[in-house]
Amino acid sequence: MGYFIKKLLVAIAIGAIWLICFAEFAIFLAGCLFGGGFSGILSEFLPVGIMTIILLIYLWTVRCKECGKFFSYRNVGTKQVKSEDISVKVELNDYNTSHEVRGTHEQYIAGTRNTYRTCYRCKNCRHEFYKKFSKDSARV
Ligand SMILES: [Zn+2]
Repeated sequence: MGYFIKKLLVAIAIGAIWLICFAEFAIFLAGCLFGGGFSGILSEFLPVGIMTIILLIYLWTVRCKECGKFFSYRNVGTKQVKSEDISVKVELNDYNTSHEVRGTHEQYIAGTRNTYRTCYRCKNCRHEFYKKFSKDSARV
Protein backbone atom coordinates (compact mmCIF):
# COMPACT_ATOMS: atom_id res chain seq x y z
CA MET A 1 0.00 0.00 0.00
CA GLY A 2 1.24 3.45 -0.82
CA TYR A 3 2.54 5.80 1.82
CA PHE A 4 -0.08 8.41 0.97
CA ILE A 5 -3.02 5.94 1.05
CA LYS A 6 -1.89 4.58 4.42
CA LYS A 7 -1.67 8.06 5.95
CA LEU A 8 -5.06 8.95 4.52
CA LEU A 9 -6.72 5.77 5.87
CA VAL A 10 -5.38 6.42 9.37
CA ALA A 11 -6.68 9.98 9.14
CA ILE A 12 -10.12 8.72 8.07
CA ALA A 13 -10.14 6.18 10.94
CA ILE A 14 -9.20 8.82 13.53
CA GLY A 15 -11.69 11.22 11.96
CA ALA A 16 -14.48 8.63 12.17
CA ILE A 17 -13.81 7.93 15.88
CA TRP A 18 -13.68 11.66 16.51
CA LEU A 19 -17.03 12.09 14.77
CA ILE A 20 -18.65 9.38 16.92
CA CYS A 21 -17.28 10.99 20.12
CA PHE A 22 -18.40 14.40 18.90
CA ALA A 23 -21.90 13.14 18.02
CA GLU A 24 -22.27 11.53 21.46
CA PHE A 25 -21.22 14.74 23.14
CA ALA A 26 -23.57 16.78 20.93
CA ILE A 27 -26.48 14.51 21.90
CA PHE A 28 -25.53 14.87 25.58
CA LEU A 29 -25.29 18.65 25.17
CA ALA A 30 -28.69 18.80 23.49
CA GLY A 31 -30.08 16.79 26.42
CA CYS A 32 -28.53 19.32 28.83
CA LEU A 33 -30.04 22.26 26.99
CA PHE A 34 -33.52 20.78 26.99
CA GLY A 35 -33.26 19.09 30.36
CA GLY A 36 -31.71 22.09 32.04
CA GLY A 37 -28.80 20.35 33.78
CA PHE A 38 -25.11 20.42 32.93
CA SER A 39 -23.91 18.02 35.59
CA GLY A 40 -21.29 15.55 34.40
CA ILE A 41 -20.50 17.60 31.30
CA LEU A 42 -16.74 17.39 31.92
CA SER A 43 -16.61 13.60 31.88
CA GLU A 44 -18.85 13.57 28.80
CA PHE A 45 -16.51 15.99 27.08
CA LEU A 46 -13.44 13.86 27.87
CA PRO A 47 -13.65 11.40 24.87
CA VAL A 48 -14.17 14.10 22.26
CA GLY A 49 -11.50 16.24 23.93
CA ILE A 50 -8.94 13.42 23.81
CA MET A 51 -9.87 12.53 20.22
CA THR A 52 -9.50 16.18 19.19
CA ILE A 53 -5.96 16.23 20.62
CA ILE A 54 -5.08 12.92 18.86
CA LEU A 55 -6.51 14.24 15.57
CA LEU A 56 -4.56 17.50 15.84
CA ILE A 57 -1.29 15.67 16.67
CA TYR A 58 -1.84 13.29 13.75
CA LEU A 59 -2.60 16.11 11.31
CA TRP A 60 0.57 17.82 12.53
CA THR A 61 2.65 14.76 11.55
CA VAL A 62 1.23 14.58 7.99
CA ARG A 63 1.88 18.25 7.38
CA CYS A 64 4.80 19.41 5.24
CA LYS A 65 7.44 20.90 7.54
CA GLU A 66 8.23 23.60 4.95
CA CYS A 67 5.03 24.75 3.26
CA GLY A 68 2.49 23.41 5.77
CA LYS A 69 0.38 21.53 3.24
CA PHE A 70 -1.40 18.40 4.52
CA PHE A 71 -0.85 14.94 2.98
CA SER A 72 1.66 16.33 0.50
CA TYR A 73 4.54 13.87 1.05
CA ARG A 74 5.05 11.10 -1.48
CA ASN A 75 7.39 8.13 -1.33
CA VAL A 76 9.87 8.76 -4.14
CA GLY A 77 12.06 5.72 -3.73
CA THR A 78 14.28 3.61 -1.51
CA LYS A 79 18.03 3.40 -1.86
CA GLN A 80 20.55 1.14 -0.18
CA VAL A 81 23.07 3.25 1.71
CA LYS A 82 25.13 0.74 3.68
CA SER A 83 25.98 -2.94 3.80
CA GLU A 84 27.93 -4.36 6.74
CA ASP A 85 28.98 -7.78 7.97
CA ILE A 86 27.34 -8.93 11.18
CA SER A 87 26.61 -12.14 13.01
CA VAL A 88 23.01 -13.25 12.94
CA LYS A 89 21.40 -15.37 15.62
CA VAL A 90 19.56 -18.31 14.05
CA GLU A 91 17.61 -21.15 15.58
CA LEU A 92 18.69 -24.59 14.39
CA ASN A 93 16.92 -27.88 14.93
CA ASP A 94 18.56 -30.69 16.89
CA TYR A 95 17.96 -34.16 15.50
CA ASN A 96 18.21 -37.53 17.16
CA THR A 97 19.59 -40.66 15.49
CA SER A 98 16.29 -41.42 13.74
CA HIS A 99 16.24 -37.89 12.29
CA GLU A 100 13.42 -36.55 14.43
CA VAL A 101 13.53 -33.03 15.81
CA ARG A 102 14.18 -33.23 19.55
CA GLY A 103 14.85 -29.57 20.25
CA THR A 104 16.48 -26.42 19.00
CA HIS A 105 19.62 -24.47 19.75
CA GLU A 106 20.77 -20.99 18.88
CA GLN A 107 23.85 -20.27 16.90
CA TYR A 108 25.53 -17.21 15.47
CA ILE A 109 26.34 -17.31 11.78
CA ALA A 110 27.75 -14.76 9.38
CA GLY A 111 25.22 -12.40 7.89
CA THR A 112 24.70 -9.05 6.29
CA ARG A 113 22.96 -5.93 7.53
CA ASN A 114 21.70 -3.78 4.69
CA THR A 115 20.66 -0.25 5.54
CA TYR A 116 18.13 1.49 3.30
CA ARG A 117 16.90 5.03 3.06
CA THR A 118 13.44 5.95 1.83
CA CYS A 119 12.96 9.44 0.51
CA TYR A 120 9.69 11.34 0.96
CA ARG A 121 9.14 14.50 -1.04
CA CYS A 122 6.48 17.17 -0.71
CA LYS A 123 4.64 17.43 -4.01
CA ASN A 124 3.95 21.08 -3.36
CA CYS A 125 7.32 22.60 -2.40
CA ARG A 126 9.63 19.58 -3.00
CA HIS A 127 10.88 19.55 0.59
CA GLU A 128 12.44 16.15 1.36
CA PHE A 129 12.97 13.98 4.40
CA TYR A 130 14.40 10.51 4.84
CA LYS A 131 13.52 7.47 6.86
CA LYS A 132 16.17 4.83 7.50
CA PHE A 133 15.60 1.15 8.12
CA SER A 134 17.77 -1.95 8.04
CA LYS A 135 17.30 -5.60 7.23
CA ASP A 136 19.43 -8.45 8.55
CA SER A 137 19.92 -11.60 6.56
CA ALA A 138 21.96 -14.72 7.21
CA ARG A 139 24.49 -15.74 4.59
CA VAL A 140 24.02 -19.34 3.57
ZN1 LIG B 1 5.87 21.35 1.20
